[in-house]
Amino acid sequence: MGVFQIKSTKNHETPCEGDENSKKNPEKIETCYFCNKKFDINKDDSSHYKYDKYPMCDYCSRFYGFYD
Ligand SMILES: [Zn+2]
Repeated sequence: MGVFQIKSTKNHETPCEGDENSKKNPEKIETCYFCNKKFDINKDDSSHYKYDKYPMCDYCSRFYGFYD
């Protein structure tokens, strides 16, 4: 009856990198800090967080030429 197969249960070292969320870009609606327009910051355009804090829409990003 059954062979003892005691292998260390070491399956769970690190959850694989690339957590599920980082692959897809779910919409994340933010309000632009500069023009108050709502936009999807996860969209693949110039929108981004200015200083990691202030949402900045694609339009303003281009307009002001801020890319980081
Ligand atoms: Zn804007």
